[in-house]
Amino acid sequence: MNYRHIYHAGNIGDVLKHIVQANIIRYLQKKEAPFRVFDTHAGIGLYDLTSEEAQKTGEWQAGVGKVLTAKQEKKIPASVEAVLAPWLTTITDMNEQGTITCYPGSPEISRRLLRKQDRLTLTELHPNDFEQLKHNFGGDKKTKLIQLDAWLALGSFLPPRERRGLVLVDPAYEVEDEFERLEQATAKAYKKWATGVYALWFPVKDPRSVKRLSQGLKAKGVKNLLSVELSAGRISPDQPMRSSGMFIINPPYTLKQQLDCALPWLTKCLAQSNEAYFKLEQLIPE
Ligand code: SAM
Repeated sequence: MNYRHIYHAGNIGDVLKHIVQANIIRYLQKKEAPFRVFDTHAGIGLYDLTSEEAQKTGEWQAGVGKVLTAKQEKKIPASVEAVLAPWLTTITDMNEQGTITCYPGSPEISRRLLRKQDRLTLTELHPNDFEQLKHNFGGDKKTKLIQLDAWLALGSFLPPRERRGLVLVDPAYEVEDEFERLEQATAKAYKKWATGVYALWFPVKDPRSVKRLSQGLKAKGVKNLLSVELSAGRISPDQPMRSSGMFIINPPYTLKQQLDCALPWLTKCLAQSNEAYFKLEQLIPE
């Protein structure tokens, strides 16, 4: 396990992932009844962008950095800002006005958005990252921390007691068969809990892996799957095309409309070349 999210925190993939995550949580709060967020690949929870690791790649500057600049320059249309707000406010609340030194990982976004009746389960396998996660989240009464393989946890912890909630699956894609593991574990989890919202993040290095994932999930009985992808294009012509996407199973009915509204602006804001694009599609019907 070599992957450390500190090198990538706040990058373009995080921007898409965390906007989706925050809007799903906001939607779940429309009902008073409690819900649970189960974050299977938690990382360390929050990230110091002034750290040597984050500075080394500077990936956040091409992601959250661009969105914050647009916000400061008041260039975000109001309708788009409403979609970004649940995510953006977690960032502005953590940082001094006009600066960004700290970026919230998915656990911190959940922690900041959850109400007192809601609960958060975080699993992380890497021993050092788990220690840091414990340091950042230990003692939080709403949060349960478990050092465990996410693929095992997905088969064991569902359905949650609350019977409502979000399962965020955000693997590191270090191992070759990660897409297959994702498909198997999601299908198994879905069989145990078909009404939960599942948000699966993936890099789009080979579109065939993504296609196989959607076909595999469909063949295993998964219904109501929304797919979103955002690419900022190539930094230079000799670079590979970089893109990332998410599958959202049982998305809130408002999510497609929200993304439809935000993605054209967001793609332009994050674009590194004129090849930037987004896709938004209901891949499996209800
Ligand atoms: N979700 C986090 C966020 O948005 O802030 C980032 C997670 S990062 C992409 C992936 C994390 O999964 C890494 O911290 C890595 O150590 C962890 N990881 C990798 N394989 C795992 C496994 N099988 N079970 C649990 N965690 C795993």
